[in-house]
This record gives sequence, structure tokens and C-alpha cells, in this order.
Amino acid sequence: MLDNTSQTNQVDEAFLQAFTHIFAQEAKTLSVSPGRVNVIGEHTDYNDGFVLPAALQFTTQILCSPRADNIINACSVQYPGDNESFSIDGDIKPGEFAWGNYLRGVVVELKKAGHTLCGMDVLITSNVPQGSGLSSSAALEVAFGGLLNHCCNLGLNEQQIALIGQAAENNFIDCQCGIMDQLISAKAQNNHAILIDCKDLSTRAVHIPENLALMVINSNYPRKLADSEYNQRREACELAASTMGVNKLREANMDMLLDVKSKLDDTTFRRAKHIISENERVLAAADALANNKLNELYSIMAEAHLSLKDDFEITVPATNGLVDICNTALDGRGVARQTGGGFGGAIVCLCDLNDVDTVVKAVNDQYEAKFSLKADIYVCEASQGLRVLDL
Ligand code: ADP
Ligand code: MG
Repeated sequence: MLDNTSQTNQVDEAFLQAFTHIFAQEAKTLSVSPGRVNVIGEHTDYNDGFVLPAALQFTTQILCSPRADNIINACSVQYPGDNESFSIDGDIKPGEFAWGNYLRGVVVELKKAGHTLCGMDVLITSNVPQGSGLSSSAALEVAFGGLLNHCCNLGLNEQQIALIGQAAENNFIDCQCGIMDQLISAKAQNNHAILIDCKDLSTRAVHIPENLALMVINSNYPRKLADSEYNQRREACELAASTMGVNKLREANMDMLLDVKSKLDDTTFRRAKHIISENERVLAAADALANNKLNELYSIMAEAHLSLKDDFEITVPATNGLVDICNTALDGRGVARQTGGGFGGAIVCLCDLNDVDTVVKAVNDQYEAKFSLKADIYVCEASQGLRVLDL
């Protein structure tokens, strides 16, 4: 099991000293933004639907000190030796370091939105595992966007910062993600999941009971097909929506889908069936969680997994196997399902805190033996979103 005690609300002394060592001056401002897990609502975001993510205690932190010129110098504790540096003036192109492009992308999008920025020295560190389905990229974009907002007095709210982060990822990194990751990283609340309506970006905080454990288990199955399959899913959703005469599947319901069944091939029909039913499940799950009806929540999440497995077809034997191992160990006292885009990645498991050890033992005993892969297990706490403070 990985360490989950490293929640950083206070500034880490070694991190501050690292900043002083690199930039020969003290850091003035700290920005902190978390990774996330989606409790329920997969592939609904780009269909204008609903999602129910929670932010985690794993965060990306950025220290900065303003500069008198228009240069951004950046280092990351996770990429020692990479000295990223670019001017905020003129045309900003992708740079030498892949990770630096997340910062460049945020600057490009802020400039596009008409903001005047200032130069700064920045140092990044993070305990959000990268590429594990916990969205370290959104944590980085939101932490950096929040930092620029604060230090350059841009007057943006959390939603605007999230949209800038998403635009950076869509346009500069060329990853066509929805808004969920950035919005939860920017707006999350302690001990709450956030119901997001991806159509109008309105949010509703849903309390997570104290005894409910939120586990994320990464299958570490190589996600080779993810990009091409993701695009195919998007196309199928668009085809089904246009056949029903709606802009996005959010506007459709099951009766409308059944009416056009003969016009759709079976695969497209099942893709749309997943999205329409998933939107209903997200709303029902948010109500069940808010009312502490955990058994109801567990059965909705179990249905959601089957819908991803049979209708949307984005699970793989390794993630189905992990879900089975957890569900068998919990015997109804909790539930696991695929979370995130699929084709590998992570599962999310909800259960009583007292059952965490049972799940950990079952995964450690069975997963590697069955799938020749080692799972990473994160026991998470629903945590706060973006925080920026002057030191
Ligand atoms: P994830 O699922 O974690 O978001 P992505 O591939 O979308 O995976 O984003 C991971 C990338 O984000 C890394 O390869 C790196 O470029 C950037 N990144 C994340 N965390 C950091 C960090 N602490 N320092 C520098 N870059 C980071
Ligand atoms: Mg990402």
C-alpha cells in the first residue's frame, strides 16, 4: 500500500529550501491543487452529462517568486535537471520538456483570454502519482493557473481557472479531455464529492460519510488502445445523438433511444444506452450518498461497472478482475468499479473503513497471481481543491 499520510497543508520545509537553493531567493507564494477520482459518471462529460468526482489528499504544489522581467523559469522536483524557461511575450511554442508544456499551455490560454501576465520563478513538487488515473496533469494546470491568477491579479474564479487548464490540455497538449478533472481540482471541498453538471458547469457538494473509505486501485495494465478507442466512443455518441436529433446525449432519454433503435447498429445503440443510463445513475448515486443510503449507492455503482463492461466496452480483463476481487472480498459491504477512461487504468472501491485491510489483502493475494501485474493501492480522503497563499 502506498503512503497516504503525506497530506500537505503546511509548506514542507525541504521544499522551501529547495526553492531558495535553486533561485537564490525565498519563495513568496504557494499554490496547492489535488488529484482526483471519479466515484461515478464515465464518458458522460463530453456528452454534456453528469459526473461525481472527489479530490484526493494527493496534491501538486508550486512555489513561486515574481520576476521583474517576462520570463517564466520552472523546475520540478519530479524532473531533476530539467530547467524549463520561456518568455511570456510573443508566440509560445512547445518546449524541450514535455512537462513544461502544461505550463506553456496555461500561459497561452490566459494570453488568448486577454490577460496580462508577469514573469516568475517556480518550483513544482507533487505526490499525485503520474499516469495512474489520478489526474496529475489537471492538478498541475490548476495549481499553475491558480498561481498566475493570484500573482498577476487576474481576478479569475475557480471555474475560469479550470476552463483555462482544460483549454491548455485540449489545445497545447492535444489531449481532448472533458472539464471534470480541472473543475474538481479547482473546486473540491473536504469530505465531499462534487456533482458536476458538465453542460452548465454547475456543482453540488455531496457529503461523504466519515466511515466510508475511498480507495483507488491502479491495475497498471498498459493503456495502449486508450486514445483511438476514446475517439471511437466519442464518434459513436455523436452519431447516436444526431440520429435522435439532439446536440448531445444529455438531451436524450431511453424512450428516444428505443425509438431510433432500428436506425442504429447494435454497437452504437449500446454506447448510447450506457451514456443515457449512466447519467441517471450519477444523479441517483449523488442522492443515495447525500442520504447515507450506502447499499443503494453500492448497487448503482455495480450496475455502472456492468454498463461499462457490456455496453460501453472500455474495461479489460485486468480491471474486471480487480473489480471481482474487491467485490468478492467485500461480499456486499462495499463495491468496486472501473473509473476513468478505461482500457486499463484504475478502479475505485468504496467500503467501510474497517474493510480496507480486507480489500488490500485480497488484491495483494490474488491480483498479481492472476494477471502478472502489480496493483498500486491508494487509500484516499476527499480533500479540498485549489488553495493559494502568500508565505
Ligand atoms: P495523469 O493521468 O496523471 O493526468 P497525464 O499523462 O495526463 O497523466 O499527465 C501526466 C503528465 O503531467 C506527466 O507526464 C508530466 O508531463 C505532467 N506532470 C504531472 N505531475 C508533474 C510534476 N509534479 N512535475 C512536472 N510535471 C508533471
Ligand atoms: Mg491527465
